[in-house]
Amino acid sequence: MRIEQDDKLDFSDVLIRPKRSALVSRKDVELNRSYTFKHSGQTWTGVPIMAANMDGVGTFPMALELQKHNLFSCLVKNYDVEDYLKQIPNLNPEYFAVSTGTSSRDLTKLKSIIDTFPNIKFICIDVANGYSESFGTFVSKVRALYPKHTIIAGNVVTADMTQELILRGVDIVKVGIGPGSVCTTRIQTGVGYPQLSAIIECADAAHGLGAHIISDGGCTCPGDVAKAFGAGADFVMLGGMFAGHNEGGGTIITEYYDTQKKDLETMLPVLEKKQFVEFYGMSSDTAMIKHHGEVAEYRSSEGRTVRIPYKNDVNTTIKDILGGIRSTCTYVGAPNLKQLPRCTTFIRVSKQFNDVFVNSKH
Ligand code: 5GP
Repeated sequence: MRIEQDDKLDFSDVLIRPKRSALVSRKDVELNRSYTFKHSGQTWTGVPIMAANMDGVGTFPMALELQKHNLFSCLVKNYDVEDYLKQIPNLNPEYFAVSTGTSSRDLTKLKSIIDTFPNIKFICIDVANGYSESFGTFVSKVRALYPKHTIIAGNVVTADMTQELILRGVDIVKVGIGPGSVCTTRIQTGVGYPQLSAIIECADAAHGLGAHIISDGGCTCPGDVAKAFGAGADFVMLGGMFAGHNEGGGTIITEYYDTQKKDLETMLPVLEKKQFVEFYGMSSDTAMIKHHGEVAEYRSSEGRTVRIPYKNDVNTTIKDILGGIRSTCTYVGAPNLKQLPRCTTFIRVSKQFNDVFVNSKH
């Protein structure tokens, strides 16, 4: 047994220090970035925020909405050739990836999709634990099959494994174990890594090799997304922040709550309407039953099923996130997203914000 003594940090452990800025308006901040990927050689330009390949998030309607803003979507794994057939004419190949697991059935399905639609550019190989040797072998196999595609793969949280995946042919390493909003890995297994430190360490490893990383999981607000970029993430992937919208396709649950007040004219109880959408982790019992018909006996569920407030169209949320990041850039004097890490100084804090009225409603 060994203990590492240096502190590892989460988004909530830091704030970004403001700096003198020559920027006049946050409208002037450029959020598009251009990357050339290490193995595929493809060049990409867009706003490097991604929808996670989760039910209720990585859907076709979400991708169609996000691509209007140059944002990217990793589509859910369960879409097959027939599903893609209907959507391909509408999808911009710059802004979506086909997601896959690592079983032989997954590979057969991936091949059928990629071979049917030659304009698809991105493949996302996604497993909960990117440390297994079989995952590395699968990644090498996909790279050999598709030398020109941009391969996203993960998840890992350490520099050594980031490098190994890149050497096996990954262009963009997905970073994050346990930070997710509906993830229970840390509770079930005790395994994880604070996300801000994971980004800093994995980005350093990837950038040294000319590759890229995605910070995946743990963002709860636009400020967290800005911190992820400030720490060196090339892309930031969001599950919970993009969940609960019409584009996710979940059922909207409507409930009425007794406010304990009475209408002064009718003297009837005043009820408050609240709307929710169910959201669940892709390793939750809910997801396993939905996609595999059962929870395998040897597996413990590592995801939650929750109800989150219904948030209407994702457009408003996108504007809120992009507005927040533009504002971060003006606070630190970064004229564009590319400059944000260079302009970022994190300060350790014991309290992030004043929450005294958080639960007080108008
Ligand atoms: P969020 O943005 O909601 O905080 O995190 C999204 C990420 O959580 C996903 O991209 C994925 O990496 C991770 N995730 C999704 N479902 C599960 C799950 O059931 N268990 C775990 N451990 N992680 C999950």
